[in-house]
Amino acid sequence: MHCCSRCQRPAVTELHSPRRRADPESLIASARAGDARALGRLISLVENRSPELRPVMKAIAPYTGTARVIGITGAPGVGKSTVTSALAAAYRAAGMRIGVLAVDPTSPFSGGALLGDRVRMQDHATDDGVFIRSMASRGHLGGLSLATPQALRVLDAAGFGLIIIETVGVGQAELEIASLADSTLVVVAPGMGDSVQAAKAGILEIADIFVVNKSDRPAAHEAVRDLRMMVAMGNWGEGSWRPPIVSTVAVAGTGMDDLTEKIGAHWSWLASSAELASRRRARAREEVTAIAVAALRERVGGLPGDSRLDELAGRVAAGQLDPYSAADELVSG
Ligand code: GDP
Repeated sequence: MHCCSRCQRPAVTELHSPRRRADPESLIASARAGDARALGRLISLVENRSPELRPVMKAIAPYTGTARVIGITGAPGVGKSTVTSALAAAYRAAGMRIGVLAVDPTSPFSGGALLGDRVRMQDHATDDGVFIRSMASRGHLGGLSLATPQALRVLDAAGFGLIIIETVGVGQAELEIASLADSTLVVVAPGMGDSVQAAKAGILEIADIFVVNKSDRPAAHEAVRDLRMMVAMGNWGEGSWRPPIVSTVAVAGTGMDDLTEKIGAHWSWLASSAELASRRRARAREEVTAIAVAALRERVGGLPGDSRLDELAGRVAAGQLDPYSAADELVSG
């Protein structure tokens, strides 16, 4: 039973019912065999930071490392969701199984009712070759950097050859997505403020491909021109990848062939240079760090009522102990 007709998240009672609790091994086996419900439950373990996650991660490690990861970011309303859907359709037509993680860094709610609940994804609602899951991260310890790589790992192990992570380009989110993805697409739209301003400072470092969506709008060519100029002014080293600019009308599925071709070219470039290995190592580094920091944070407390911390804080406040020594004691204790 699902919590609603649109998402693949198991109903709450199912998640918490001890009768229904499956062991990690059989959940993994079912997810690998294509059972969307088992997959949804595994991702719930990630979101809930369940203690069962540890054996799951251990068991799936050998099955990971094959999925290609595409990150899609950009300002609200530029058409990220529509591009994601059209792109998923294009890859689906080529026979790939697609996982979509729609990460909303602005929402504290999780579980399939956010970005992924939008009309856009109804195109894929009945296709079990496409798994869509929304995740929220505001206020979650570790933010995107903790849950998303692990959800990605689960999808990878479940045999999804391509995973799209979509997020609103606000705050740290776009940087975090770029560090998770093999290829990062920055979507802009004409008439949504100045597109180059939308593609603000720093965006050149994270964009592997620029997508000028809503190219059915009159100002589209200006957006392309501005971006072209920005790319031309970039400081590109020998053999480095220069982000191409792809025009799309995602609502009509126009430009998707060009987009998949550019993504393919970027993938070939990654694979033929040291960049793929280096990006994936960087991703693993962040993942390990995020888990370690969360574990440390749990260990050192920080919650009101933590008596050890209270005692140290009291001494610091009274001038009996310096804060560095107190922190050392907290970490080492
Ligand atoms: P997001 O907030 O970036 O995910 O944007 P959405 O994908 O939800 O799209 C925002 C609005 O733009 C929706 O009403 C879409 O139907 C519309 N839209 C998306 N792509 C296009 C396009 O290529 N052309 C036009 N004219 N509208 C589009």
